[in-house]
Amino acid sequence: MQNQRTTTEWRELDAAHHLHPFTDTNSLNQQGARVITKAEGIYLYDSEGNKILDGMAGLWCVNIGYGRKDLPEVAKQQMEQLAYYNTFFKTTHPAVVELSHLLSEVAPEGFKHVFYTNSGSESVDTMIRMVRRYWDVKGKKDKKTLIGRWNGYHGSTIGGASLGGMTYMHEQGDLPIPGIVHVEQPWWYKHGKDMTPEEFGLAAAKWVEDKILEVGADKVAAFVGEPIQGAGGVIVPPSTYWPEIQRICQKYDILLVADEVICGFGRTGEWFGQQVFGFKPDIFTTAKGLSSGYQPIGAVFVNDKVATTLAAGGDFNHGFTYSGHPVAAAVAHANVKALRDEGIVDRVKNDTGPYMQKRWREVFSQFEHVDDVRGVGLIQAFTLVKNKATRELFPDFGEIGTMCRDIFFKNNLIMRACGDHIVSAPPLVISKEEIDQMLETAAKCMVEFEKQLKERGLV
Ligand SMILES: *Cc1c(COP(=O)(O)O)cnc(C)c1O
Repeated sequence: MQNQRTTTEWRELDAAHHLHPFTDTNSLNQQGARVITKAEGIYLYDSEGNKILDGMAGLWCVNIGYGRKDLPEVAKQQMEQLAYYNTFFKTTHPAVVELSHLLSEVAPEGFKHVFYTNSGSESVDTMIRMVRRYWDVKGKKDKKTLIGRWNGYHGSTIGGASLGGMTYMHEQGDLPIPGIVHVEQPWWYKHGKDMTPEEFGLAAAKWVEDKILEVGADKVAAFVGEPIQGAGGVIVPPSTYWPEIQRICQKYDILLVADEVICGFGRTGEWFGQQVFGFKPDIFTTAKGLSSGYQPIGAVFVNDKVATTLAAGGDFNHGFTYSGHPVAAAVAHANVKALRDEGIVDRVKNDTGPYMQKRWREVFSQFEHVDDVRGVGLIQAFTLVKNKATRELFPDFGEIGTMCRDIFFKNNLIMRACGDHIVSAPPLVISKEEIDQMLETAAKCMVEFEKQLKERGLV
């Protein structure tokens, strides 16, 4: 399919027939989409021959890097052997059994069971149904409300978008659905005022306690959060936050859920984000890095307490035609095994992650309009600010971020703007030399960016 048409033809056909996710269709079609034709390692190539450094691993998902030869081989063999069968009615298959076994080995202690989905959104929706079913089986039918966070991202289905705290998503289609409430995110830079980050972590956890008391503990089923908020701008909470959240959930007998869709499978240098912050959820949702994007698959991990209770309830009336799809399961298995056995996750923890974090801070801290330079492992960010001394943000949050992101894009470096947070999460196979290259380009872009800020009279 690579060479059959010209770039112009692809753009025209794309504009004619393809509705893009999270996109202003008319403005995209005026510009025309960039056509990505192949990828290798950490690089993408477009139809015009540009080589682009993917500082976002696709959508935070291609942990193992592009262009692996073993994963397509596994997919082909599995497709020939058993292209599809379901696991609904007293059947299973080797691919899903092997994956489940492997996942129980890499998961934190106490997580021996997984439920399969095809995406992060489906993992989140599955979790919502599980949490409510859990309390149902316990005889506490009123414990239904889930607490999420403003600016959290939990996907795009009705459940996921409701639980997420993106107001621009809520505005379209009457969300959130009933039984979902939100608290403020643990963003010290904006909300921390004169508190130390540690004091602020406790204060932000207290918002969760306040919300529990407002709704009534007998009505609250679970608190759900990303260990590090991803699409909300890589908000790394203070060290005090998660342990205090854990304490509060235990105190009020509320399930604690981590959405590990981005943090999972080595992104932070640990296998899961909960291990960075030292807390133990009851359930955690995954997708993205589980297959490094080579196949669509997600998994919901449940601890023994939840697994036992769900089992005691008999039928759980939930599942997808493609839950535990053989091809996706086989590919995910090969991917997770490689992340482990090739030492890719270890390298992020001990080598490339610390290196990225050190260099990232060195490079960006020197800019006048960059502050809160932060990150863990291979997920990092900084915030574009009007005035560092007073922690003043730009008035139209997001406008400046987009301007900055476009400069990176023009220079064949993909980083993402979440509001005025510039974020990055490259494939975990990135080398130190590639990190240097990436940051060298990024620094040049930032010089250009600050020049434009001044020229346009924005500072
Ligand atoms: C991407 C993401 C999702 C949704 O995953 P999809 O595969 O896009 O449905 C859910 N939660 C978090 C934390 C995510 O980053």
